[in-house]
Amino acid sequence: MRDIRPEDTALFQSVEKGFREVARRFGYGQIRTPHLEATDLFVRTVGETTDIVEKEMYSLETKGGDRLSLRPENTAGVVRAYLEHGLHRTAPLQRLFYCGEMFRHESAQKKRFREFTQAGIECFGSPHPEADAEVVAFACEVFRELGLGDVRVELSTFGCPACRPPFRQALREYFAAASDRLCAECKRRLEKNVFRLLDCKEESCRAIADAAPRIELDDECSCHFDATKRMLDAMGCTYVENPRLVRGLDYYTRTIFEVFPAGGSGRQDALCGGGRYDALSELLGGPPVPAVGFAMGVDRIVMALKGGQSSSAGPDVFIVTEATDAGPSRSMGGQLALALRRAGLSVVTDILRKKFPDKQLKDAAKAGARLVVIAGGDELTSGEAIIKDMNTGEQSTAAMAPIDTFVSAVRKALALPQEKESAS
Ligand SMILES: [Zn+2]
Ligand SMILES: [Zn+2]
Repeated sequence: MRDIRPEDTALFQSVEKGFREVARRFGYGQIRTPHLEATDLFVRTVGETTDIVEKEMYSLETKGGDRLSLRPENTAGVVRAYLEHGLHRTAPLQRLFYCGEMFRHESAQKKRFREFTQAGIECFGSPHPEADAEVVAFACEVFRELGLGDVRVELSTFGCPACRPPFRQALREYFAAASDRLCAECKRRLEKNVFRLLDCKEESCRAIADAAPRIELDDECSCHFDATKRMLDAMGCTYVENPRLVRGLDYYTRTIFEVFPAGGSGRQDALCGGGRYDALSELLGGPPVPAVGFAMGVDRIVMALKGGQSSSAGPDVFIVTEATDAGPSRSMGGQLALALRRAGLSVVTDILRKKFPDKQLKDAAKAGARLVVIAGGDELTSGEAIIKDMNTGEQSTAAMAPIDTFVSAVRKALALPQEKESAS
């Protein structure tokens, strides 16, 4: 777990903002669920035989004897909330999104953070391929919105409870025949959850998994997959089919997909993963609820963006005033700053009593301010502040009263649209 400093926080916020904006465009509302849930929720949904539940959960027992865990992912919590609020009865169609911290005690070599941020969506209530296509398209739009449009979307289908058992059987026989070459983990999982063998990270296991049999879809799953792809094609959402894509979790049905950074090939560096999970609600004692969703790793997206983007932007305005004492120049600076802030600008003033104006101008440049407003000395006497563009060096003056006119002059200098006159 680590601290995130303002430079990086700015990137996190821009990713989260982009995500929220796409959620708005798709008509998804935010759901916030607790960071702590009953351990049993994850044992039942994520599954006992997964790394997550076996080794990676931070679990605790309360004084009252309840077994709780910090959420390692959020789909289980959102499904729990959906059922707990009876939405399957009152409003089964729900388009929900979330963004928050998840916790996994992963081994240090993996170089992953143990507290990390995921943003994701869950679309409940539609069994139709339109929902699958909507969810994949949503993910694509998020990457486009963030300027990462050249990611690779891999798409596949995991079949349904009708066509998966023969697939499972075929995999069991295939891997059993090669069991002496499998890693210890895979040997153990052969009986419990053979699908996990397909995404084992061990080199020797991967070679075997690469030649494993593929799923044979029944007619319904085949139609569903075709329709999903047709809709994605129509929306111009590009993807590659990857029949090796699987899920270790049994509740997934039909569509599954992952998104990788452009040029990346490792299975470890997926930015986003999701799919349809029609069987999850029943695992929690609910009725069948068709559902499809995804989760994306905000930390990894921030890493991907970090190369291409400059760090956090400086303030819009730095106000330079006389520093001798908290006199009239400082008071004027304070008034101007507040008025500009209320007009939506980010404004910084000198609070270190640095020398007027040179040292303060230096600080303004260091902070990366776009404009400097000088309101001291001659300017205070004349009532006209100097407005200096820090990029071009261009200067102008503006009367400091009335203050609304001054705010307009600064907005103009920043090339911002003028605010409409308020009605009152
Ligand atoms: Zn099927
Ligand atoms: Zn293995």
